[in-house]
Amino acid sequence: QGPNSIYKRVLLKISGEALMGDQGYGLHPPTVERIAREVKAVQEMGVEICMVIGGGNIFRGLAGSAQGMERTTADYMGMLATVMNALAMQSALEELGVYTRVISAIRMDEVAEPYIRRRAVRHLEKKRVCIFAAGTGNPYFTTDTAATLRANEMACEAIFKGTKVDGVYDKDPARHDDAVRYDRISYDDVLIKNLKVMDASAIALARDNKLPIIVFSLDEPGGFRGILNGEGTYTEVH
Ligand code: UDP
Repeated sequence: QGPNSIYKRVLLKISGEALMGDQGYGLHPPTVERIAREVKAVQEMGVEICMVIGGGNIFRGLAGSAQGMERTTADYMGMLATVMNALAMQSALEELGVYTRVISAIRMDEVAEPYIRRRAVRHLEKKRVCIFAAGTGNPYFTTDTAATLRANEMACEAIFKGTKVDGVYDKDPARHDDAVRYDRISYDDVLIKNLKVMDASAIALARDNKLPIIVFSLDEPGGFRGILNGEGTYTEVH
C-alpha cells in the first residue's frame, strides 16, 4: 500500500464512451493511453485495481433493440463490445509495463481468461490489473451492475466511477449553471431523485452491500490518483 492511498483494492468503472475521445464512435487510442496512465499511476501507489469498461462507444443492446433487433442478441453484441474495449485497455496498459489480465464473463478462451473468482483474486494479490469484460454475462444488465457485482466479489473497498464531471449534481451541470454538486449523498437519495450515477439495479446492489461509489472526473489529469490520495472534488454515494 502506497504512502497516501487509503485504499488497498478498488474497482474503476468507465463507460465505453470515455475511450472514444472527441470522436462519435469507437476507440481513440491516445485517449485509451491517457486513461491507462491514470491507472498506472494508481497502481504505482500499491493499490490493487479492478476495471470494468462499458461498451457504449461500440454497441448498446437497447439501441439495437430499438432498431428491431432481438433484445437478448443485441445485449450479447453489447457484451462483445466490452471485450474489445477491455483488450484495447490491456494493450495500452501493457505498453506501459503494467501486468494485466482480461477476464471475460463469457467464455472465449483464446482471447481472455474465463471468470473464476479465486483466480481473479490471486491476480490482484500479484498486483495484476484485472479487466473484467463481457459485463455480467447476462442480457438485460449493464456494465454498471457488472462493476458492482465484481467489486463485491473481489472485496473492493469502493467503486470509482470515472465520468466527464467531478461528481454527482442535482441537475446536469453541462446545461445548468446553477447545478450544485453533492459531496456525499445516500444511495436512496440517488434512487429517489433519479440522479444519473449508475442504473438503479447497480445502486441497489451497492447499497445492499454497503459498497461506496465515488464519482469523479476522468478528464482531470492525475484525477484518479488524486482522488485516491484524498485530493480533488468528487461525490461519495454511501
Ligand atoms: N450488457 C449486457 N449485460 C451486462 C453488461 C452489458 O447485456 O451484464 C450489454 C448491454 O446491451 C449494454 C452493452 O452491453 O447496452 C454495453 O454496456 P453498457 O451500456 O453498460 O456500456 P457503457 O454505457 O458503460 O459504455
